[in-house]
Amino acid sequence: MNNTETQSIYKNIQNAITSAGKKLGFSDATITNITEPYNVINQSVLVPEIGKEIDMYRVQFNNALGPYKGGIRFHPDVDLDEVKTLAVTMMLKCSLIGIPLGGAKGGATINPREYSEQQIEAVARTWARTMSTYIGVDKDIPAPDVNTNGQIMSYMLDEFEKTVGRSEPGVITGKPIELGGSLGRTQATSQGGVYVLEKILEFMPELAGDKKIIIQGFGNVGSFAAIILKNLGFTIVGISDSRGAIYKDSGFDVESIADEKNTSRTSLHEMFADVDDVQKISNEDLLVQPCDILIPAALENQITELNADDISAKVILELANNPTNTKADAILKEKGVVLIPDFLANAGGVTVSYFEWVQNRQQYYWTAKEVDERLFAIMNKATDAVYTLSQKESLTLREAGFQIAVERVGKAASLRGNK
Ligand code: GLU
Repeated sequence: MNNTETQSIYKNIQNAITSAGKKLGFSDATITNITEPYNVINQSVLVPEIGKEIDMYRVQFNNALGPYKGGIRFHPDVDLDEVKTLAVTMMLKCSLIGIPLGGAKGGATINPREYSEQQIEAVARTWARTMSTYIGVDKDIPAPDVNTNGQIMSYMLDEFEKTVGRSEPGVITGKPIELGGSLGRTQATSQGGVYVLEKILEFMPELAGDKKIIIQGFGNVGSFAAIILKNLGFTIVGISDSRGAIYKDSGFDVESIADEKNTSRTSLHEMFADVDDVQKISNEDLLVQPCDILIPAALENQITELNADDISAKVILELANNPTNTKADAILKEKGVVLIPDFLANAGGVTVSYFEWVQNRQQYYWTAKEVDERLFAIMNKATDAVYTLSQKESLTLREAGFQIAVERVGKAASLRGNK
C-alpha cells in the first residue's frame, strides 16, 4: 500500500479518537496523550545472511493501561506510517476488550517469499536483538502478525533470552506450546471473530438465516475462520490468497484446501486450474461477488470508495486490521451494511495472547476448555457493550467501539496525570 493511503488511515483514526475524546469531555492533554505514540524505534540493520540492511520498527503507542502489546509484521510494504497505524489500533483493541495491556506494533520491511527459511530466521533474530532493550515481559510484548508465526516467535524468544541472559517466556506471545504457548492461540483471532459474529447475529436475527460467506485472505486467520464457520453450517463461497481468488456458489471444502496450503506453496489459482466450475478471479473482484457475509482477513485498505457500493454482503466482519477506509465506511453505513469493526472483530488474537502472558507469568497452564471459555466471555462482553451503546446512541458499531475504547484508555491516561 502506498504511503499516502497509510497516512490517511492513521489521520482518520486520530480524528476519530479526538472526536470521541471531545464528546467524552477529555482535556486536550489527555486527547494528545492517546493520539500520538509514546516511543518510535526505527532502525536500518544489516542482516549479513541476506547481504543488506533491513528497516526494522517498533512503535510503542501507549502503555497507560499496561505493558505495550502487539504483533510484528514481515511485509514489503511495512513503513513507519503503517506500523503507527497498527499500533494505535492495538491500543484501541486492548482498551475496548478490557485487558490490562497497552498498544504497540512492530515490523520488518521484507518480502519473506524472496528468502530461505535460514534467512528469515536471521531477520527474526536480528529484530529481537535490535529491540531487546525495548521489549520485556513488563515492558512490551510482541506477537505474530502478517507473515510471522510460532516458529518466528521461537527464534525471537531464543535470541532475546540469549541477549539478556535469563529465561523470560512472557516476553513474546504466539509461541508454540513447547516454549510456553497457550492452547487455542493459533486459532484465537478466528475463533474470537466467530464469537463476535454469532453474538451480533443473535442481536439481529433478521440477518441470521443468511449463510454464504466470502473470506479475503487464507493465511492463519482466514483459513481457521473458514474452517470454524463451515463447521457451524455456513457455506464458504469465496476465498483468496495473495495471488488470486476463487469463487463457487455451492461452497468449498476449506479444510482440505487448508491442508494442501500448509504443505505446499501452491496458489489457489494453481490448485483449481483444471476445475471448471470454480471461477478464478482477482482479489478485488472477490469482494463484490454475491454473498451474505464478507470477511476481509488480509491487509488494510481493501474496501474503499471505489468498491463499497458494489459490495453485496449485509454483514462485514473485519478480521484484518483497517481493511475499510473512512469513505467506504460512510457508504456502507448509508447502505445499511452492518460492519463489525476490526478492533472488536479480530481482538480474539490479543485476548489469547494476554492469556498466554498470564500463564507464562504464573508458570501454570490452562486447559483448552479454560482458554476457550475465557475467550468466549471476553468477546461476548465486549460485543454486548458495543452493540448496546450503538443502539442507545444510534451509532455504528465502529463509532460505539471508539467511544468505549477511548473512554477506558483516556481515563487511565488522565489518572496518571495527563489531564
Ligand atoms: N497481530 C495480532 C493483532 O493484530 C495479535 C497481536 C497480539 O497478540 O499481541 O491483533
